[in-house]
Amino acid sequence: MGPRSLKVRPKLGRARSDAVLRRVLDAFLESLSPEKLIQGDPIELVRRYSSDADQEVAGLLVAALAYGRVASIKVAAERVLSLLGPTPSTAIQDAPTRERLGGFMYRFQRGDDLPRFLSAIAEVRDRHGSLAAAFATGLSKTDADYAGALDRFVLALRAAAGPSPSRGLLFLMPRADGATGSAKRLFLYLRWMVRESSIDLGTWNRLRPGVLDPAKLVIPLDTHIQRISGYIGLTDRQSPGLATAKEITHALARLRPDDPLHYEMALCHLGISGACPRRRDPECCHDCPIRGVCRLGAPPPGWR
Ligand code: SF4
Repeated sequence: MGPRSLKVRPKLGRARSDAVLRRVLDAFLESLSPEKLIQGDPIELVRRYSSDADQEVAGLLVAALAYGRVASIKVAAERVLSLLGPTPSTAIQDAPTRERLGGFMYRFQRGDDLPRFLSAIAEVRDRHGSLAAAFATGLSKTDADYAGALDRFVLALRAAAGPSPSRGLLFLMPRADGATGSAKRLFLYLRWMVRESSIDLGTWNRLRPGVLDPAKLVIPLDTHIQRISGYIGLTDRQSPGLATAKEITHALARLRPDDPLHYEMALCHLGISGACPRRRDPECCHDCPIRGVCRLGAPPPGWR
């Protein structure tokens, strides 16, 4: 059953249904081990670096490659990071080191896609001192969230990557203007850099103290988040675009205004784990941690 068939609204008042949702998600999140969530996420590779400079460079590289299965992403990203050595922020300054990656291939990436991407990161860092500072130059007080700043950051990277980029190179730097897709991978990168938690790194908050606000993050929207969000009434949209990502983020902000992505890993984990059969199933739904708020598995009393 897809999200279209879930176009129902709770009869509970919004405040009450939000309180129920918050309680269920809090309990679910509490039951999850941060260590296990990290193991199932590409951020595991980035957390190996202790310096802020290496975290922001390795993070952008890993996030840009974060498409496909998590296991494949980790193999591909691990290969690049091992070639860059223990300090990727230093290694990308060095053209011969970058060139050694010219044979790297991962799905859409071929030839010199990766060296050009790394050169673009190096150039932007060189110009601004850090990627955090480069991102901060694109901030606007009138923006309700970081989509605009992220798009300006991407345009700076694209300009630094030079003319005639291949499709594989552009794919590493997706626009966040809402025209195509939800820029999921780069919003994931922002989550790692801006949020501070037992999972996320908060690297840019150390590099630019007091400048960035987790409340302005947009959820990195993948199929898992979209599906589970539909089940629990955060969205009825079916398109996996930026508008859907923002709608889900706004709904989550009602539960946690200061940190709308607080529950993101939990929702994603439920989808990735395969525990949900995507239909009402007495056995699976009975044991499901979000059964009390799932419109598909077991609509709560008062919901129709
Ligand atoms: S209650 Fe059932 S349908 Fe809903 S998320 Fe859980 S397992 Fe999936």
